[in-house]
Formats: sequence, C-alpha cells, structure tokens
Amino acid sequence: MTSTNNQNQNTHIFNSNYEAVIGLEIHAQLKTQSKMFSPDSTNFNGADNENTSTVSAGMPGALPVINKKAVEYAVKSGLALNCTIRKKSVFARKNYFYPDLPKGYQISQYDLPTCEHGSVEFLVDGEIKKISITRAHIEEDAGKSTHQGDYTLINLNRSGIPLLEIVSGPDLRSGKDAAAYARTVRQILRYLDVCDGNLEEGSLRCDCNVSVRKKGVEKFGTKVEIKNINSFRFVEKAIDYEIERQIEAIERGEKIIQETRLYDPDKNRTFAMRTKEDAQDYRYFPDPDILPLILSESYIDKMKADLPELPLNRFKRFQTQYGLPEYDADVLTVEKDLADYFEIVCKISQNPKAASNWVMTELLRELNQAEKIISQSPIKPEYLGKMIQLIDNGTISGKIGKSVFIDMWKEGKEPETIINEKNLVQISDSGSVEKIIMEVLNANPSQVQEYRSGRTKLFGFFVGQIMKVSKGQANPDMVNKILIEKLKG
Ligand code: ADP
Ligand code: MG
Repeated sequence: MTSTNNQNQNTHIFNSNYEAVIGLEIHAQLKTQSKMFSPDSTNFNGADNENTSTVSAGMPGALPVINKKAVEYAVKSGLALNCTIRKKSVFARKNYFYPDLPKGYQISQYDLPTCEHGSVEFLVDGEIKKISITRAHIEEDAGKSTHQGDYTLINLNRSGIPLLEIVSGPDLRSGKDAAAYARTVRQILRYLDVCDGNLEEGSLRCDCNVSVRKKGVEKFGTKVEIKNINSFRFVEKAIDYEIERQIEAIERGEKIIQETRLYDPDKNRTFAMRTKEDAQDYRYFPDPDILPLILSESYIDKMKADLPELPLNRFKRFQTQYGLPEYDADVLTVEKDLADYFEIVCKISQNPKAASNWVMTELLRELNQAEKIISQSPIKPEYLGKMIQLIDNGTISGKIGKSVFIDMWKEGKEPETIINEKNLVQISDSGSVEKIIMEVLNANPSQVQEYRSGRTKLFGFFVGQIMKVSKGQANPDMVNKILIEKLKG
C-alpha cells in the first residue's frame, strides 16, 4: 500500500520474449513474550544465550509446549490473509543438521499447516493486484552462528522464536510487484499487532523464488531461491537482477540449476550459496512430543471478530467516507496508529480535508524531524481536532493556528489554554479592526497617497502592516473588506 514510494520508478525492462515467475516465502516473527514451545523470553536485547532453557538448547528429553498466544497470532494472520484455518493442524519435525540447531530438527508444520488457501490484495501504482497464499505455517526459528576467524560462536536466543512462514503462490511477475506485496504483508501484520515488522532485527525476512519462462510456455522454469533479504528495496533489486541473469544464461544455451543464492546489495548481484535440498531430504514426520493442534469453530469465529479493519479497506473507506484524494488515503493508512490518530482529529474537527492536511504536513514533518512515531506525538489528536475547529469557527486565524500548533508540540497543552495564555483570539469585531486599519493608514500617509494615485500593489504592504500591528490577530477577511473601503478615501 505504500505504492506512492515507487510511483516515479519505472519497472525494469527485460527481454520481452520472457516472463518471470516469482513466489515469496516471508518469515514473520510473532510478537509473543515467550518462545514457541518454551517459557524462554523472546527479548531481542538479551545477553548471548541468556534466553536459553533446556528446550531452546535442544536437550534430549526436554518437552515442547505450544504457545497459545502464538497460535492466536497465527490464526489472526491467516484470517487477515483470507486463509482457511484448519481445525486440526500438526507440528512436524524437519530434520537437518546445522550447528545452531542442536536438536537436529526444526519444529514446523508440513502437510497439515494451520492456515492455507488464502489471498492478498495489494496496490501498485494505483492498481489493485491479487496474489494467492498457498499456506501460512507455524514454526520455530533456529539459533545464530557468528563466524570469527577459525572458530564460530553460537547464540541460541533465537532458537525457538515463533515464526509464521507465509508462502505465496508463484503469481508475482516483477520485482516491483513482489516488493509491493511484501510491504503489504508487513503492513497487515502490523495492523494486527502480531509482528513488529522490524527488518533490521530480522523480525521479517523474505526469501524470493524466481524463475523465467518463454512467453506462451505454460511449464515453469527451474527456480532459484534468494535467501534472507532484509529490505523491500533489495527484494525488488535482487529479483530484477536474478531475472536478467537467468534470461541471459538461457540465451547463452545454459541450464538454470535449482539452488539457493544470496544477494549482495553493494554489488547488486546474487551469488550461488548451495544447491537446494528437495522436500524429502528433510524426512518430515509428525512430532511425537506435540499433540495435534485442534481449533474449534467458535475459537476461529472469535479470532475473526477480533480483527481490525484491514489497510486496503481502510484506504478505500478514507476516500469514500472522507472524500480524501487517493494519495492522502494511502499516506494516512500506512500505519494503523496514524490512521487511528487521523480519525480522531477528523471526528473532533468535522473537517476531513483540513485534518488530513494538518496531519500529513505539519504533524508528520515534526514527527520526522524529532524521529518520533505517531504514538509519541506530544499533540493529542483531540487537541489538533479542537484547534482546527477553532480556526473554522473564526476564533483564531489559520496563520495563528500554525503558531498554536508549534506551541502544542512544544508544551503538549490544549489549544484553548495556549490561545488564552498568549491572548491569540482573532480580532473579529469591525470596530476594533477599523481602528487598527486607521492607525496604520495615519502612520503611512505617503503610501496612502501613492496607492490612491494608482499604485494598487501597495495593498499588500498595508495588510502586512495591519497584521504586524495586530500581532496577526486581525481577521483577514475583515481587514480586506474594510481596507478597500478606507483606501477609496
Ligand atoms: P520448496 O519446496 O522448494 O520450498 P515450494 O513449492 O514450497 O518449494 O515453493 C516455495 C516458493 O516458491 C513458493 O512461494 C512458490 O510460489 C514458489 N515457486 C514454486 N515454483 C516456482 C517456480 N518455478 N518459479 C518461481 N517460484 C516458484
Ligand atoms: Mg519452502
């Protein structure tokens, strides 16, 4: 939905005899306090191996217990991705050796995942596209290896962190669409408050599967998987690079081999990492330590009832209900908290367009400068709404509004308090305005003379002086009307 970021970027142009086929596997860390199968903390800032009990360390005989909250988050995500939720899903062991996977297998889901057969709609350049979601399964993360010279350090704090792996159908056709899709998935998960979407900390990771085929050919080409890309911009660039690499290889008569590649953002290239295992190599089988996960109809209904309005619906509603332009609706719905804030400003002010302008320009500017997020705004949405109301009912001018806004930002006070303390109420009675005008005209007789002999440009000069004398408080419409009369002489 943050399509506006890309609006001026042209899609990469490739050899037009070919078409790309892309599917994404997104690993989202579910925002629970404890791990998927143990009470260990998920705190990202824990000291090395601090959050590591016998379960996380994979000790023989340690017993996993399913985290209820993680299931709730997974089910909500599945519902928001229009998936069918399985009444019975099964955790399976995916066997492989890795130094940071001490028990020799990862607990995941195989043929009976909790969520499947979904779809996601997302926006690219104002156009809504739809992608199928094959499945979204619950699994645990592995630990982390850090290689230092000729030895390797292993930190098991991540071992057992709950993940939802969201697997798209092979429906995407360009790097740009893939990035827009991934951004939308992140946005949905953040709306649900089930994943913080922090790419730098690895709470959202993206594997991109890419193949190419000649246009008109139905059969898919051999796919390559690009692993662990940690920015949406790099998703787009890595895919576009890979499409071109594959087309050129095929044109040279080479065969694409199924492999895992890594993307190097500095060189903007992908590199072969390892050839890819087939599914049977993992020897999946149901984990005998964990009972099947059984979810009732009423539980699923309750989760459904708990879902917030999703970003694309909100984006559409902001346009219809508030008459906002598409651009405003897009910016204001990027984050749920921002959209919530806007709606309160709107409700209090009863002026959607003004609410949108104040939030998008003044407020977002201050937040960016202060590196704050919307929930840290010192200005409460009720106060901003009230301030817009005070401008609309003539209590203060729009210009004074800007200074009240800055004071609210600095002091966090209500607009009325600031207006009273600083005596900023607009002067709107004609007698007082007239008095100020006469004061200015009497102080500038030669300019009045010039004006009357044809230099009408001086009108702006008088308005400026009047505003200066009234400290910006004279009602501008009234000033214009009375000044014209007075200058007629
Ligand atoms: P694997 O078993 O190798 O992980 P999956 O069938 O689980 O493969 O698919 C993984 C991802 O790759 C999915 O997102 C899927 O849409 C995508 N995918 C499958 N086949 C292709 C292909 N030929 N080209 C591009 N993407 C593909
Ligand atoms: Mg896979």
